[in-house]
Amino acid sequence: MPGPDPKTSPHLSEADLAALPASERIRYRLIGADCRYHANDNIAAHVREGELDELKAEVQAKMQGVLQSLVIDTDSDHNTQDTAQRVAKMFVEEVFRGRYVAAPKLTEFPNVARLNELMIVGPITVRSACSHHLCPIMGRVWIGVLPNEHSSLIGLSKYTRVCEWVMSRPQIQEEAVVMLADTLQAAVKPDGLAIVMEADHFCMHWRGVKDSATAMTSSVMRGAFLNNPTLRREFLSLLPRKTAG
Ligand SMILES: [Zn+2]
Repeated sequence: MPGPDPKTSPHLSEADLAALPASERIRYRLIGADCRYHANDNIAAHVREGELDELKAEVQAKMQGVLQSLVIDTDSDHNTQDTAQRVAKMFVEEVFRGRYVAAPKLTEFPNVARLNELMIVGPITVRSACSHHLCPIMGRVWIGVLPNEHSSLIGLSKYTRVCEWVMSRPQIQEEAVVMLADTLQAAVKPDGLAIVMEADHFCMHWRGVKDSATAMTSSVMRGAFLNNPTLRREFLSLLPRKTAG
């Protein structure tokens, strides 16, 4: 493991940690708090102000090393001169941003009208990356919610924000839909929750089998959608395209 381990050196203060690279400092806090930091985990609670800029600088320096190892002359090739910097910014601030920023604030409304009808949100555009190759995953998500009188309702745009937050991390599609379901279940507390994600995996197009017709569909059914086949069929029949049920 790079950097100090809180199990073997448990008494480093923030002042001691300040001397370390930001990634080692953050990792020390994560291990100390017994927090998992897999590719699709959010670690925002352990990142202090200004540290994302430090992380970007670290990634940039290491990405420059990758280009060097790929024997690309970034000095005279004007196209790649700033590539390390661009990629670092893209990873930390854009495509993997969902690891580093806190969950979007959800304004919840009590279900005063006691809505208990099936509600479908989607398609929501998904932009993610596979954690095996860091290749793009581009797709769409549909969310079905069956609220009860105790559910909190969140605005339509919030579903998009939560989806974006969960998906902008290196992912495995099957885990991504479960993580999205867990986040929405906790926020909305519906009687039933259904999620269908259909996506193109660019690691299939770009490398490997190069089969451009490969799309993958995953679904998660919870509560009423699991117990009530009629409700599940109704949800699936309202999706615009054929999806696996
Ligand atoms: Zn892949």
